[in-house]
Amino acid sequence: MSETHITDILIVGAGPAGYTAAIYAARAGLDPLLVTGMQPGGQLTITDEIENFPGFAKPVQGPWLMEQMRLQAEHVGTRFQFDLISKASLKNGPDHEGYFHLTGDSGDAYRARTVVIATGAQAKWLNLPSEQHYQGSGVSACATCDGFFYRGKDVAVVGGGNTAVEEALYLTHHADNVHLIHRRDSLKAERILQKRLHAHPKIKVHWNREVREIRGEGTPSVVTGLDLHDPRDPAVKQHLPVDGVFIAIGHSPNVGPFRHEVACDEEGYIITPPGTARTSVPGVFAAGDIQDKIYRQAVTAAGTGCMAALEAERYLAERVHDK
Ligand code: NDP
Repeated sequence: MSETHITDILIVGAGPAGYTAAIYAARAGLDPLLVTGMQPGGQLTITDEIENFPGFAKPVQGPWLMEQMRLQAEHVGTRFQFDLISKASLKNGPDHEGYFHLTGDSGDAYRARTVVIATGAQAKWLNLPSEQHYQGSGVSACATCDGFFYRGKDVAVVGGGNTAVEEALYLTHHADNVHLIHRRDSLKAERILQKRLHAHPKIKVHWNREVREIRGEGTPSVVTGLDLHDPRDPAVKQHLPVDGVFIAIGHSPNVGPFRHEVACDEEGYIITPPGTARTSVPGVFAAGDIQDKIYRQAVTAAGTGCMAALEAERYLAERVHDK
């Protein structure tokens, strides 16, 4: 039977941003309700080792870190609901009693005085079966997370936008050789980044190339190379031996039912003015990758989750004063 949940602060999304917002909101006595979505833990649950989240002397596992955040949020009093928000009515502001109305896939209704959207983003993939097979053993979508493991090795980056070029440049700190594979003959990335890319002695650009297959061997099997072809003439084939491949063909924000409820940019990222977690609707906040297409780190997501909770607390306090 469907239920109605009423809360001062509804947090949508169970990644570092959502959990951190929950921890701060709970400690502020706001009794937060966190709707987890279908993949609690978010992108970190598909990351292996994390070495750059401060506080741990040794690498930790992504799923473990997310479990710790969940336990911490629970310990300070967060309530969790395993549901997926499928409808939200935000753009016209709260109702006359001060509540926003949302609905879950389960049929449950949510009435919240403030909402924190922390639904994250997901990397786009090439959709090759081999890509899935080697995820965590040579295939990654995050150079900052996994680049360190390729010290002294050869890697490839797929894509031609800012992310691909930044990742290629970043990987030169670790890898011996970095191959940038792009499906066209010109890059989309900013000129300054292109200049740095072309000037770098460790980077080789492969124009007009698409990845047909990721090859690997050994037990457990790890990536050993890529089969490439020319999209203009698939008969032109090439094998490129590499130890790892970073897919950098863009991310999609998980904006779902919020797309037309708060202001978003053309790609669907929620717009928050610099230095705040506020959206275009007072009382609705956004944190983490849903509003950040530049940094996309667990620690920055956690930071904006904290900002969202503090701003929600302030918003609620102002309304109590106004009464
Ligand atoms: P983009 O959408 O800008 O670029 C994606 C790249 O991947 C394009 O070159 C595209 O090729 C290629 N691509 C897409 N699909 C495939 C596919 N199936 N096979 C092969 N190649 C493919 O994504 P980014 O992640 O680079 O950037 C997203 C946004 O974030 C942009 O607005 C960017 O400016 C911004 N950003 C800003 C940064 C900064 O300011 N420092 C850092 C990183 C991102 P094609 O060119 O042919 O379309």
